[in-house]
Amino acid sequence: MTVKADFHVHTIYSPDAAISFDQLVAACRDKKIDIVSIMDHDEIKGAIEFNKRAEEMRSKGEWAPRIIIGEEVRTAGGEICGMFLKKWVPDHKPPRDTMEMIKEQGGLVYVPHPFDLLKLKRLKAGELVELADLIDIIEVFNGKPRTPGANERAARFLEEHPIAAAGAGSDCHEPSHLGAAHVEIDDFNGPDDLVEKLRSGRIHGEKYSPFATLLPRLIGRRELKKEFKDQT
Ligand SMILES: [Zn+2]
Repeated sequence: MTVKADFHVHTIYSPDAAISFDQLVAACRDKKIDIVSIMDHDEIKGAIEFNKRAEEMRSKGEWAPRIIIGEEVRTAGGEICGMFLKKWVPDHKPPRDTMEMIKEQGGLVYVPHPFDLLKLKRLKAGELVELADLIDIIEVFNGKPRTPGANERAARFLEEHPIAAAGAGSDCHEPSHLGAAHVEIDDFNGPDDLVEKLRSGRIHGEKYSPFATLLPRLIGRRELKKEFKDQT
């Protein structure tokens, strides 16, 4: 059986995103995404909570996407994501330390948007090669690259330096772009198997403008906050 996975999704727990649990479930169902990796900025609480709620739904026989607990960690050398995390990874550490903290807890190291030149702090090609022993997946398709050719540069780098598996994620901060970039792979069981299955994975992607998400994010956050207040 093949599954579709979006490895880069932000929730309301990211300071700049607006996706609630219900919206996540609805968007995944709509776009036929089976698995999401939640990559909130320097935060893991949302991923843990959403995963728990998804498990509860499945235990009642309802459909919910499978959730990989991840985090997009700001390091001293740019952003690095961890997947299959058990605990929070602190930010602003050197990249190698961050990657080691991810690996120590059995997680996978996923490098998001590595060649987006507008991200001034990012791991450069030479650093990626130096850190190759710790990198599992490189994002070769990000849904909202800020510079033209960023995804193509990432894919070319990985072809020339096959140091990791190729991954993709929408980097959505509001529900409408969920799934815009994803991988289609044979179903997997756990982190090692995922890396293995990604070897024969297929990347699907549709780019959207980073500006397209600004207003929906703002409005979305305001609405969700109101809703949250009404419930409490
Ligand atoms: Zn992101």
